Amino acid sequence: MQDEHEVINPATEETIATVPATGPRAVDAAVARAARAQERWAALAPADRARLLRRFADAVDGAVAELADIEVREAGHPVNNARWEAGNVRDVLEYAAGGVERLAGRQIPVAGGIDLTFHEPLGVVGVIAPWNFPLPVAGWGAAPALAAGNAVLLKPAETTPLTALRLAGLATEAGLPEDLFQVLPGDGPTTGGALVDHPGVAKIVFTGSTAVGQQIMARCAAQVKPVTLELGGKSPNIVFADADLERAAAAAPGSFLDNTGQDCCARSRILVQRQVYDRFLELLEPAVRAFTVGDPADPDTAMGPLISAAQRERVRSYVPESAPAAIRGTVPGGKGYWYPATVLESRTADERTATEEVFGPVAVITPFEDEAEAVRLANATPYGLSGSLWTRDAGRAIRMARAVAAGNLSVNSHSSVRYSTPFGGYKQSGLGRELGPDALVAFTETKNVFISTEEN
Ligand code: NAD
Repeated sequence: MQDEHEVINPATEETIATVPATGPRAVDAAVARAARAQERWAALAPADRARLLRRFADAVDGAVAELADIEVREAGHPVNNARWEAGNVRDVLEYAAGGVERLAGRQIPVAGGIDLTFHEPLGVVGVIAPWNFPLPVAGWGAAPALAAGNAVLLKPAETTPLTALRLAGLATEAGLPEDLFQVLPGDGPTTGGALVDHPGVAKIVFTGSTAVGQQIMARCAAQVKPVTLELGGKSPNIVFADADLERAAAAAPGSFLDNTGQDCCARSRILVQRQVYDRFLELLEPAVRAFTVGDPADPDTAMGPLISAAQRERVRSYVPESAPAAIRGTVPGGKGYWYPATVLESRTADERTATEEVFGPVAVITPFEDEAEAVRLANATPYGLSGSLWTRDAGRAIRMARAVAAGNLSVNSHSSVRYSTPFGGYKQSGLGRELGPDALVAFTETKNVFISTEEN
């Protein structure tokens, strides 16, 4: 285990902070403190818990610009995207606060008595977050867990601990009980692993790669510990000949270049009906070139650098910058982990790039004949997170949406995330759902109590 981790600005390659790592003994102490804080938290009146969470949301609202600035420097996100992400944490907290007093059990009709169900908090919840969306992912796990009466221990990614640490500061400033929401920076196997294996941690919410998610699920199985897994993706963007092609082509770059393609929902497989394939590619080229790449702090920038030198090497291992491409964008010179927007045609792309999650600004474009072939291609992957359908035919949109095996589909749009609707993957993209009206229940045990009304 490293004692500390350097946080590097990916646009300048400068070290902006050094953060101490949390060793197993410190994790142990954090779990004990969180358990005590959780007891006090769960004993509060629901209205008081809701009020404190709303205050936390207000504190985040007041710090949107500050959090966004940190996100720009530690993750290289364009400033407008980073502001949206900080605002998303506020929204998720407000929405979860609204759920505290609505987390009602049921009274179920039975013979011989009254039957009641209760949603009881789990206790201490571990949230393990990736570096690609450090702020929203922290909020999606922490907000409903806190609202349901739990304490939260958040393990941010090694490369992006700073927004998480600031969030914990805002929670304290808002008046949440001390130790209820703690951030434990450190590496995955040591700090994350200690949370996964700790018997005092009642649930793990993991967002990250499918390979690590599989290991975590196996380790949680040893304690029959519940897990929510939000994992990788290789999502399709399916464009039919009857679509508004101009609109579909104008929207496509954002769907695989946002966050420099480091997005679990990236539509990195573009499937286009054969009769409009050439026309679509013609329209796509200027749209990709118009996607401005550069300084993430500049409000006109649409795409920043990749997160790290290692991530750039990973993307290059799939697609060297010299590989033949149908479309290739440009990048700034000088320091920074830049990689150009790249569209490859499937007839020349290699199998790995066409089927694995590259996690960079790379898409593979493939022609298809008809609906049946579009469904077959869309589903020919172990993943099933997101997907987009572009068509003017409402019947086709519904047929396709039902046939594509993915948790989050959009029609004539690339939207995947709304705080009030469920989010999560099919197949190897995950297990369970975050956000939406049922988010709090996922952080509870359901207890059933039968009360006899018999006289003897
Ligand atoms: P990663 O799996 O390498 O790491 C994710 C987190 O897990 C980090 O905090 C890391 O330190 C920790 N970790 C690593 N090994 C661990 C272990 N053995 N035990 C416990 N914790 C461990 O993923 P990443 O590279 O940070 O993120 C990119 C991946 O995340 C991509 O595959 C992406 O698709 C996925 N992702 C999914 C969603 C979603 O909602 N489905 C959202 C964002 C990212």
